[in-house]
Amino acid sequence: MNSPKKGGDIEYNLNLQFEESIFGVEKNILVTKSEKCEVCGGIGKIIFEQCKSCHGSGKQKRNRKIKINVPGGVDTGNVLSLIGQGEQGENGGPSGDLYINISVAPHKTYKRDGIDIYIECHISFGYASNGMDIQYQR
Ligand SMILES: [Zn+2]
Repeated sequence: MNSPKKGGDIEYNLNLQFEESIFGVEKNILVTKSEKCEVCGGIGKIIFEQCKSCHGSGKQKRNRKIKINVPGGVDTGNVLSLIGQGEQGENGGPSGDLYINISVAPHKTYKRDGIDIYIECHISFGYASNGMDIQYQR
């Protein structure tokens, strides 16, 4: 009955700017986790009275700030897994995992296909015949 139970997994949807998806970014995200109630120690009762803090559930919702490092080259649909950053386990069980669903805002100039970046631009005939350097502007 009180066997160790792994905590639940949490999913978080993270929206990135185009540049962040290419170069990587460090983000602080706020995740709401269900944690052991600190008032009653997770029992849900204080002596015989129901714990008022967690209303007898033994758990409370808390916002936890988590720092994540998004590696460069991610794209919409990628999922970052942060093992052990999900909900607390019960009875000594391991914590669940946190899954970050990446979605990347489209850039107004640059288009992307996998790891290749495309740019659509109109260049004059003179430039086209002599060649030119196009610099990526952040
Ligand atoms: Zn409580």
